Amino acid sequence: MNPNDLLQKAADGSRLTPAEGLTLYQNADPTHLMEVAHTLRLQKTDPGVVTYLVDRNINYTNACTTDCQFCSFYRVPGHPEVYVLSKRQIGEKVEELLAWGGTRILMQGGHNPALRIAWYEEMLRFLKSTYPEIELDCFSPSEIENIAELEGLSMETVLERLNRAGLDGLPGGGAEILDDAVRARISPKKTKTAAWLHAMRIAQRLGMVTSATMVIGFDETWEQRVASLTRLRELQDESLASHGNGFTAFIMWTAQLSETNSLGRSRHRAKYGADYDEYLHTSAFARIYLDNFTNFQASWPTQGLDTARRALFAGANDFGSTMLEENVVSQAAAYTEKEPRMTVHRLHEQIWQAGFTPAQRDSRYHIVHRFDRALTAAELAPAPIPTRLNGVDGAAEPAGFVPAASL
Ligand code: SF4
Repeated sequence: MNPNDLLQKAADGSRLTPAEGLTLYQNADPTHLMEVAHTLRLQKTDPGVVTYLVDRNINYTNACTTDCQFCSFYRVPGHPEVYVLSKRQIGEKVEELLAWGGTRILMQGGHNPALRIAWYEEMLRFLKSTYPEIELDCFSPSEIENIAELEGLSMETVLERLNRAGLDGLPGGGAEILDDAVRARISPKKTKTAAWLHAMRIAQRLGMVTSATMVIGFDETWEQRVASLTRLRELQDESLASHGNGFTAFIMWTAQLSETNSLGRSRHRAKYGADYDEYLHTSAFARIYLDNFTNFQASWPTQGLDTARRALFAGANDFGSTMLEENVVSQAAAYTEKEPRMTVHRLHEQIWQAGFTPAQRDSRYHIVHRFDRALTAAELAPAPIPTRLNGVDGAAEPAGFVPAASL
């Protein structure tokens, strides 16, 4: 089939085979691809609304033994800048989020060999009992695999224990490209494709919230991108058929490779990277190809606000989150380095400017509040809450770690 026939097939709601997808992705006119992606988005989600989440990332530790080539965030164990956040530090961040009307924290960190499963369970129990209204979407498949290896447990047992301790969701970080040849090149010590998918399969079976991600710009081929998307589509089919709980969303961004520190890890960056047009092109293709996904996020932290607004016409129906804090991609000169915080008012402005109505959602994409008129910054300002941290220890745990004063 030629690209126009394939576009028509997709617009008619028929699934593309991997070979058809590759042909479409490589040969279709990007503008037409975006038009079809936008039409499908209008059909599958509320056409007048763009949703968003009020949440924050909390990076609980930067110690990591995995040495991903593209990562400027981590420090090897023993490095003087290694930190682990205390309960009090994390609690203070959650209380700031509550003041903003937030509903979720996304807690992720490095593969820290000093943190055992009991530390994670205790932290989750503390957060769940202190802030029961906050959804805890924490860790990623590679962190789960790291805990499993440290403890000599299966990933299934680790996820069941963390779920019992309060874990609501497993975010899709660390997928990058789900192709082991790419992974062997950019992150040889990190979770392989099958293990990443298996962790998600288990989390979905346990009823947890999960998201699927892809990062482009590691000199991967078009075929490897399509293969990565095909693996996500297959797991989505499997989970929806067996218990109905699949990925809530697909989120894609481009590799953030500029150095902002002296670690010098992005040593192949001259040939790495993807530009904004490639981001929009691939976003549109993903909306078309992943026909069993409903929600697609635009990524303002990595692409900037202008491109993120354009993504709302390339298949995306969601503007991501306020992300009151981000420390990982920000270390590699992402947009958040320039604008590290996105207030609710600023986020509304972007959605109104694109011609949609903003609606706050939770992590399962249920609408929390729909805003039918533009509110002022004062009306959307945070309303501080009384602290629930009286008597909570501020010491870093385990003993010996440096509290992170600036995070
Ligand atoms: S990306 Fe994650 S796993 Fe890789 S080095 Fe950075 S913190 Fe470690």
